[in-house]
Amino acid sequence: MNSAYDPISSSHCQGQHYAPSFWASTIALPEPNPPLQCDLQCDVAIIGGGFSGLLTAYYLASEHHLDCAVFEANQVGFGASARNAGFVLKGSGRLSYPQMAKKWGMDVCKGIYSEFSQAVSRVESLIQSLDIQCDPQAKGYIKIAHNPQAFKSLQAQAHFLKTHLSSDAEFISKAQLKSDYMNNHQAYGALRLPDGFGINPLKLLLGYRTMALKAGVKLYENSLVGDIKEVSSGVELLVNGHTVKAKKLVITGNAYNSKNTHPAINNRYLPILSSIMVTEPLSERDLVETGLKTNQVTMDTRTLKYYYRKLPDNRLLFGGRGAIFAKDKDKPAYLNNLKHGLLDCFPTLTHLKPAFYWHGYIAAALDDMPHVKVEGNIGYILGYCGAGVSFSAQAAYRLAQQIGGVSVPPLPLYHTPLPYLPFAQLRRYGQWGYYQYAQFKDRFF
Ligand SMILES: Cc1cc2nc3c(=O)[nH]c(=O)nc-3n(C[C@H](O)[C@H](O)[C@H](O)COP(=O)(O)OP(=O)(O)OC[C@H]3O[C@@H](n4cnc5c(N)ncnc54)[C@H](O)[C@@H]3O)c2cc1C
Repeated sequence: MNSAYDPISSSHCQGQHYAPSFWASTIALPEPNPPLQCDLQCDVAIIGGGFSGLLTAYYLASEHHLDCAVFEANQVGFGASARNAGFVLKGSGRLSYPQMAKKWGMDVCKGIYSEFSQAVSRVESLIQSLDIQCDPQAKGYIKIAHNPQAFKSLQAQAHFLKTHLSSDAEFISKAQLKSDYMNNHQAYGALRLPDGFGINPLKLLLGYRTMALKAGVKLYENSLVGDIKEVSSGVELLVNGHTVKAKKLVITGNAYNSKNTHPAINNRYLPILSSIMVTEPLSERDLVETGLKTNQVTMDTRTLKYYYRKLPDNRLLFGGRGAIFAKDKDKPAYLNNLKHGLLDCFPTLTHLKPAFYWHGYIAAALDDMPHVKVEGNIGYILGYCGAGVSFSAQAAYRLAQQIGGVSVPPLPLYHTPLPYLPFAQLRRYGQWGYYQYAQFKDRFF
């Protein structure tokens, strides 16, 4: 990304650099598909070549027999889908299940849990049935309590998950964490959910790309969707100076959507920077000293969370919040924040150097939930709040059903429009205020 690129102020994302991620060093990118070079007519036009766009197109083509075209402003994988941490989790957004039960009642909470569970199974079955070589790691998602209050809250969550959602959630004491998983100096105990796992997201995405192409989806890379016009027959788009006529439009540009895309999504999400470093491989001695025996995906309970895992070649991936303002993202303070976070967990790793460091935008909705909805001829998926690796599969499946005329479960995920953000122009200042509060809370409560 160019240093000044901020989806709030930049008109569009075309022409930005591909992220210098660890993932990009593990597999060669295919030649991009040619850009759109003439006018086109199709059933469904899709903006964005990430997990959501490719999978929506795949389900529309394979299950609903619709003629689909995906337009990607850059190359497939430019967006968050190839620069994330690769955690496949049974959850999305920032709302916990007890919070959902309080907000919508237990039936809705159970319905959402079922959708998130199906999302993980869907990703697993896509990987298996299509033999996508994306380096899946051992199963398990470990949520580390970073202070005594968080420890109590995790115990309550474990109880809720077991009692109401029949989850196999397991509470792990500090001693058990040390003996079986890792000697993490920040941990007061942990909640372990048995069904999360880590993958290489770029390899997964390229698997989805192949799958969509095989299903007959047309993919145009380096093709920015500009003007969107709603007409009686559906929509008309301007792409590379050519007109695309479609019955429906699906918007899956995520945090990378253009500043003015469509009123259904404009000013309704906050793009937030998250940063990741991947270290050199840990030595045998490092492994002994840190007690790191697991490759399971790990996150802590801070409001501004750290997330980490040991990769297949014993490198450590360590991520957390990035800068608020795009111009600050390469300032040393943000990499130092990750280094300090890592050393707080594993103090013996002072010599370990970051070998890769990159950033990406996530899209947060005001109500902390993803929204997967069709309004008239426009469908959109937005607001994963940093957790779209698994849920994108279910979201794409459900959006394709909505377009194909199949009813979907009566859940806020699929029936509530993306809420409008008040004072949208001041989003970055609101975020700054929130970070100040969160830093104070994470330190003292
Ligand atoms: C650093 C980081 C770490 C993360 N870690 C995790 C994790 O471990 N687990 C997890 O579940 N989630 C994680 N996420 C979130 C996850 O990556 C996203 O939720 C998910 O990839 C969203 O996929 P998507 O297809 O909706 O959007 P994207 O992958 O962002 O794709 C959107 C695409 O749309 C294109 N586009 C935008 N506008 C236009 C236009 N006008 N015309 C044409 N193309 C356009 C962009 O070029 C982009 O390629 C992380 C995100 C980041 C940034």
